[in-house]
Amino acid sequence: MKILVVGGAGYIGSHTCLDLHAKGFTPVVFDNLENGHEEFVRWGPFERGDILDTDRVHEVIARYQPEAIVHFAALIEVGQSVQAPLAFYRNNVAGTISLLSAARRAGVRRMVFSSTCATYGLPQHLPLTEGHPQRPLSPYGRTKLMVEDILRDMSGADDFRSVSLRYFNAAGADPEGRIGEWHEPETHAIPLALEVALGRRRDFKIFGDDYDTRDGTCVRDYVHVMDLADAHSRAVQYLLDDGASISINLGTGTGTTVKELLDKIEAVTRRKLNVVEAARRPGDAPVLVADNELAREVLGWSPRYDLSEIVGTAWNWHSRSNM
Ligand code: UDP
Repeated sequence: MKILVVGGAGYIGSHTCLDLHAKGFTPVVFDNLENGHEEFVRWGPFERGDILDTDRVHEVIARYQPEAIVHFAALIEVGQSVQAPLAFYRNNVAGTISLLSAARRAGVRRMVFSSTCATYGLPQHLPLTEGHPQRPLSPYGRTKLMVEDILRDMSGADDFRSVSLRYFNAAGADPEGRIGEWHEPETHAIPLALEVALGRRRDFKIFGDDYDTRDGTCVRDYVHVMDLADAHSRAVQYLLDDGASISINLGTGTGTTVKELLDKIEAVTRRKLNVVEAARRPGDAPVLVADNELAREVLGWSPRYDLSEIVGTAWNWHSRSNM
């Protein structure tokens, strides 16, 4: 059974292909390689193309006749979205409309969509449940919320169905070290700290140590990319079993401060990190932790990797790769 994985050459997309393949699906990757890596396409055919090119997407869907689409293709860097909002609205919103038009024309009516906890904005209560108001703090978060809204509206119009998965902090890598996190430029805490451990970067800057948290640094819910991948395969199966449209959090429910994360990284790598205090990063919520009951109930999902394994698999990848 074929699944079209749009943006399947990226970080979470490539790990999802690995998992889909292990569960008996054939992942067909569609990616423009602007941020993806062709060497990450290892578990099925590759078609290069851009989601804004509706005819090209339609051609690929018509050729492979996938049962469902898993849609990762997006610009993801929050800071860039503030600097270049139009590029984000074009790629993330107009691009998705183009993809949906092609899918509709080709008769594919099932989609799993990469959404984010960034759609919630500043938490009014914790842990964050799916019913929490969605008031994103950045253009990036707004593009993701807009697509969630579009998908909801489409489900009301005909038998189109979708699952929007709201990720918390994706981290870690394939335990066998074949693929991993590779962003350019890198902005995420774990890869940046590992680069410091490897001597490829001088220091790790803690963005704010005066938050109202247990040690003053921000709390995040780090979830292993293989657990996210597993949730995507489950969401595909849920849609193939005629599940209704839904939005679901993907997080562990456990919060980790930046300082706790750095302690864990020092323990796993057995290296001392050069850490410096820096100013708060605009738009950072002090605490983001998921309520994951819905994922457990609806998808039968539960996270299998803890923070040590997240850092361990990321370290295994980073220390062996030259990214
Ligand atoms: N962070 C940091 N220094 C860095 C990068 C990130 O202190 O160089 C902090 C950031 O403020 C946040 C956490 O680490 O609290 C995770 O940030 P990341 O960018 O990895 O993910 P985000 O939470 O923004 O999705």
